[in-house]
Amino acid sequence: MARHTSWRVGGPARYYAEVLGVEHARALASWANEADLELIWVGGGTNLLVRDAGFSGLIARYRAQDWQIEEQGDTATLRAEAGAPMAGTARRMGTLGWAGLAWAEGVPGTVGGAVFGNAGCYGGDIAGLLQSATMLVGDAVEEWPAARMAYGYRRSILKDASLASGAPPLILAASLQLRRSDPVELADTMERIAAQRKSKTPVGSTCGSVFKNPPGHSAGQMIERAGLKGARVGAAEISQRHANYIVNTGGASSDDILGLIAKAHEAVYSQFGVDLELEVRVI
Ligand SMILES: Cc1cc2nc3c(=O)[nH]c(=O)nc-3n(C[C@H](O)[C@H](O)[C@H](O)COP(=O)(O)OP(=O)(O)OC[C@H]3O[C@@H](n4cnc5c(N)ncnc54)[C@H](O)[C@@H]3O)c2cc1C
Repeated sequence: MARHTSWRVGGPARYYAEVLGVEHARALASWANEADLELIWVGGGTNLLVRDAGFSGLIARYRAQDWQIEEQGDTATLRAEAGAPMAGTARRMGTLGWAGLAWAEGVPGTVGGAVFGNAGCYGGDIAGLLQSATMLVGDAVEEWPAARMAYGYRRSILKDASLASGAPPLILAASLQLRRSDPVELADTMERIAAQRKSKTPVGSTCGSVFKNPPGHSAGQMIERAGLKGARVGAAEISQRHANYIVNTGGASSDDILGLIAKAHEAVYSQFGVDLELEVRVI
């Protein structure tokens, strides 16, 4: 799975598949069910840590990425399939003069991954835009209103369910509410966000923020104050630029990263009494 994750670590999945549409997804899910294989749907692999031992089931990436805009005067509904790249979609909407997604400039991964984890930054998030999500639940396609996602900061009912019991349903598409704006102004805003992101983001293979920010605190600042900037296990390093990022400096294993995660967790707990929670999903 190192080839399919932005951290570039992780052992093999017993089966890996790329899925192009709903019929293909249905057939694959039913095959996995008959074969008694655990199934995990993924997007761009930018928020995943697959263990070195790999995964004994089926990991399937949903790749459908069509989109359409339905205009209603000064607002519009963007319906984007889950495999669409989040940042590319944000940019395209900006060019067309539809505002709402500027914050997603530079957010790696797919629309599906963003809907799953309520991705957000620079004052915006998916929860603020989602009208509904089209879901494949068992064999049935269902339209879930946004309220059913029970969104909170980097959490959703799907993310909670994945921690408890394996495979959540597949997100097929998202309907997002946008509003008309000036494409030139939007381009300026997105350029500013891109520059800020570039100045803060460590270079190299990462998964973005490793831990969620606890209420009223910055996980990165606490890890930094615990003296762990630059700490290493094997080829994994807590970034000098942003302490909530762990960089694979080349040839790191999942165990190296898990070792650093444990170190940061312990140090922050013993110094500040704060029990940091992972943002990234461990498979
Ligand atoms: C450099 C860098 C910067 C980042 N900056 C940010 C940021 O500013 N804000 C932010 O919120 N995140 C950020 N991230 C994290 C990551 O980009 C987001 O979490 C992103 O939304 C994950 O999308 P993905 O498609 O890669 O999902 P994956 O990593 O493939 O999967 C993440 C989770 O979503 C589930 N999932 C994915 N697609 C589907 C689907 N179609 N149906 C059902 N479940 C699905 C998976 O099972 C998994 O549990 C950053 C990551 C990197 C590497």
